[in-house]
Amino acid sequence: MTTASNTVRTGTVLPVDAARTAMWTFVVANAVIVEVLFVSAGAGKNGVLTVAKFFGLHAALLLLFQLLLVARLPWLDRRIGMDRLTVWHRWVGFTLLWTVLTHATLVVLGYATLDDASMGKTFVALSGVPASLLGMLAAALIVVIAVISTRGLRRRLRYEVWHGLHLLLYVALGLAFVHQLQETTTFTSSAFATAYWWILWLFAFGALLTGRVVVPLWRNAHHRFTVAAVVPESDDVVSVYVTGRNLDKLPARAGQFCVWRFPGHNHWWLANPFSLSAAPGPQGLRLTAKAAGSASAGLRSLPVGTRAFVEGPYGAFTSLHRTRPGALLIAGGVGITPVRAMLEEEASGDVVVLYRVRGEADAVLLDEVRHLVALRGGRLHLLTGRTAEIGASPFAPESLHRLVPDVTGRDVYVCGPPAMTAAVLSALRDLRVPARQVHAERFGLA
Ligand SMILES: Cc1cc2nc3c(=O)[nH]c(=O)nc-3n(C[C@H](O)[C@H](O)[C@H](O)COP(=O)(O)OP(=O)(O)OC[C@H]3O[C@@H](n4cnc5c(N)ncnc54)[C@H](O)[C@@H]3O)c2cc1C
Repeated sequence: MTTASNTVRTGTVLPVDAARTAMWTFVVANAVIVEVLFVSAGAGKNGVLTVAKFFGLHAALLLLFQLLLVARLPWLDRRIGMDRLTVWHRWVGFTLLWTVLTHATLVVLGYATLDDASMGKTFVALSGVPASLLGMLAAALIVVIAVISTRGLRRRLRYEVWHGLHLLLYVALGLAFVHQLQETTTFTSSAFATAYWWILWLFAFGALLTGRVVVPLWRNAHHRFTVAAVVPESDDVVSVYVTGRNLDKLPARAGQFCVWRFPGHNHWWLANPFSLSAAPGPQGLRLTAKAAGSASAGLRSLPVGTRAFVEGPYGAFTSLHRTRPGALLIAGGVGITPVRAMLEEEASGDVVVLYRVRGEADAVLLDEVRHLVALRGGRLHLLTGRTAEIGASPFAPESLHRLVPDVTGRDVYVCGPPAMTAAVLSALRDLRVPARQVHAERFGLA
């Protein structure tokens, strides 16, 4: 497996800050252009319709921004991380919902006032106008997607069902585009407006197509990933070794994850994210999965030679974000996978590893972790026992400080179950570890 030297940044612009600045600049610049277009297009047929148009234009902008957030563009993903991007996507999604509902309500109210008719009658009349009908259908789909994405429903639905329904967003997008095109005032208020909206839509669709279709198809055609070995690590954990062509050209880093499909073994729509559990290199990739449901449990019976369709690598849980020479790597349970890979990649620098498990028998890849820590002259603390039995959480601020007294001077990487990760992040805040030194990977996307 390969090694890469530590990248320690001091005083320079952090990659995450560069990406955030680029995103904010994009959002603010486009918001300003849209305001200018709104003002220069003049008022609507009445005051209510003018405000409705304002919300409609911003709904279009939010919809296009949503596409960029999920486009999985490698440059953004490596700097911000898919977990954070999907959290933003979620919040922009709910903002979009309220913007669309306000736009639709104001359109109906505006025409009802204009025609001196009831809102019900106006709604029915507007649904007979093709441009309005398309807008209504897009709005209805956005409402459906928002409802299934509320935490309560989202938890009850199988991931694949929720994801399949969520893809209705693309239908909503197509309808919204034609609605905006037919509704004329925005696209045709000036030559600049026409050019601007066409460029923006093409850019957003182009980004989505590139990140979600072109890059994955090209990488899979180029690398031809194949299962080379399947090795049980314990009763419920298995490692899958994947080989391929030209893997030295795959831009993967330790700590990242891929979305894996094994079409000959599973249904093609089953795609699961698993971190690389060894540093990627020309000889291959490895994932290590704990059985959580049918897809992860089924990896145990994956035949050698099965073709794999691999999307990624994704994620910002890497040494690209190192700011200090010393690192503290904290893993809980199967959250050891990206940490194990990072240990291999990090050829230099002082490292401490905290590995939280119920008992030593549950510590997956423990021998490898011990070996790599010893190789680097680092320190490993295996933290066993239930919190109730050992009295206090090892991740309470005072316990963490006792274990790693110089924690504030280190980069801290944490990957584990949600409750453990939250406890560690809270302790790090209490200990005043600068936020730029804290990096977390969650085994769940928003
Ligand atoms: C970035 C990331 C890295 C991960 N790395 C590892 C790892 O190295 N080792 C490991 O054992 N587990 C890892 N996981 C968790 C792993 O993805 C899930 O346990 C697995 O997908 C469960 O699938 P299943 O069909 O077996 O179980 P299910 O019962 O279908 O799912 C169990 C849980 O996993 C979630 N899940 C299922 N499919 C997906 C998907 N495509 N995308 C996001 N969430 C999904 C479900 O919402 C549910 O909460 C990681 C998750 C993420 C998001």
